[in-house]
Amino acid sequence: MARILIVEDNALNVKLFCDLLAAHGHEPQAVTDSRQALDAAHDFSPDLVITDIQLPHVTGFDLIRMMRADDRLSDVPIMAVTAYAARGDEERIRAAGAQAYVSKPISVMRFAETVDQLLHSANGADPENNAVDGPGPTEAGGEEESQL
Ligand code: MN
Repeated sequence: MARILIVEDNALNVKLFCDLLAAHGHEPQAVTDSRQALDAAHDFSPDLVITDIQLPHVTGFDLIRMMRADDRLSDVPIMAVTAYAARGDEERIRAAGAQAYVSKPISVMRFAETVDQLLHSANGADPENNAVDGPGPTEAGGEEESQL
């Protein structure tokens, strides 16, 4: 069981993500206004943050960068969820500091698998090498284990 903070402005997605995570035994908490996300993360101490990218006021990119610059949150894995997963987006998302992204509309299986991978890699493995949707590795320097 993990504590997972969801930052998502779409109420239907909030319900979907919370239901999915709860069904997998996790404890989700959601904020729909990303301006509250950092405070919520400080209060909730999540094991994983799932953030939408297309958010009013504070975009997912902004939030990822702010978390990475925050001493208390810099090590928390981040999974981005975006409806516009163009090729350049993956690079931007990873450059901002997220470990993975899942494109919307989400695949339930992909969503759950990516959550599991990020939670497990937070317990010791390299978080840079998680599977993501879309083409291409983006970062040098990770030692990839072969996984079939
Ligand atoms: Mn949105």
